[in-house]
Amino acid sequence: MRPLPNGWMEELVRLRRDIHAHPELAFQETRTSDLLAAELARYGLEVDRGLAGTGIVATLRSGSSSRAIALRADMDALPVAELNDVAHASTKQGVMHACGHDGHSAMLLGAARRLAAHPDFDGTVHFVFQPAEENEGGGRVMVEGGLFERFPVDAVYGLHNWPGLAVGRIAVHPGPVMAAVDLFDITLSGRGAHAAMPHQGDDPIVAAGALITAIQTIVSRTTDPAEPVVLSVTRIEGGAASNIVPARVVLHGTCRHYGSTTSAVVEGRLRQLVEGTASTHGLSGTLAYDRRCPATINSPEPAARAIDAARATVGETAVDTDLPPSMGCEDFAHMLKVKQGCYVWLGNGPAENGRTLHSANYEFNDEILPIGVDYWVQLVRRCLPKAAA
Ligand SMILES: [Zn+2]
Ligand SMILES: [Zn+2]
Repeated sequence: MRPLPNGWMEELVRLRRDIHAHPELAFQETRTSDLLAAELARYGLEVDRGLAGTGIVATLRSGSSSRAIALRADMDALPVAELNDVAHASTKQGVMHACGHDGHSAMLLGAARRLAAHPDFDGTVHFVFQPAEENEGGGRVMVEGGLFERFPVDAVYGLHNWPGLAVGRIAVHPGPVMAAVDLFDITLSGRGAHAAMPHQGDDPIVAAGALITAIQTIVSRTTDPAEPVVLSVTRIEGGAASNIVPARVVLHGTCRHYGSTTSAVVEGRLRQLVEGTASTHGLSGTLAYDRRCPATINSPEPAARAIDAARATVGETAVDTDLPPSMGCEDFAHMLKVKQGCYVWLGNGPAENGRTLHSANYEFNDEILPIGVDYWVQLVRRCLPKAAA
């Protein structure tokens, strides 16, 4: 890895910690967006603002080639109350950069600065800073808002810090890397009753119990055992008092998977179980099924370039290409649905003492800032090479 020029690391750490101290939730990243846009303009990039509200696309051109790529970072924080006792801890009650998007923004900023100072590439680089990665579909909103029509590219690239992967290691998946997310709501309704006279009503709580147990058979008995899939009921609403059988119970949950066939099988079987269980218990049952985010699947050619860039950054033996994919989800999938590209994991160090993503004790590791910057620079050189003189 090439070290950063004198003084740049200190500045990058200061910027990262400034963003960390002032976290902003999805679509509210105004201060972060102002700060990033000002820096990008200072480095001499063309800065376009307003896509998806707080989104930024900063552009750098060099040479005469018509090739173009997009590099993407995310800017939003999470509704988590930080427990770290550090000088740059969150100053906003209940909001925290617990996923390291402060670090992602800082690394892309560092790459923009470095490439603006040394434009040793031939083509166009669009630096995309997206809002609302966490569950709110900021990437989708940017794509639907015309991101790739206004800024056409051959491929789009993303990265995420990865606790549990050592500092100095990069993981590149040549195919699937993050799962798709479906969300569902099940409503069981009937006639409520006095708890002492249940025979006068229909009990959705008993039915919900039976249904939750039956749902456990979908993954074990219905979906293809060779296909990774997780199905979880995560929230139950129902009842208000110990002496009333409620008229309604609502169950919420999520399915994580890697393919539309699996998703259709899960939805179909879930509907059968909801309707069958409701009918058995004399209730009505409805299912709302929402395909929220597709799977993040890297394309072969961009993945090969990412592997090359990662090897140039951290060395041949520090690049993992055979790690199993995660069942977590990434909003970057919305960009990969319309453009080929690659999303990599950057080692953030041990996932000990709560140093995991979305934890109140998570900490982005500043040591990896120059690694991320160099990876982006190496990637740009490989995607947009200068013709040999
Ligand atoms: Zn996250
Ligand atoms: Zn994240």
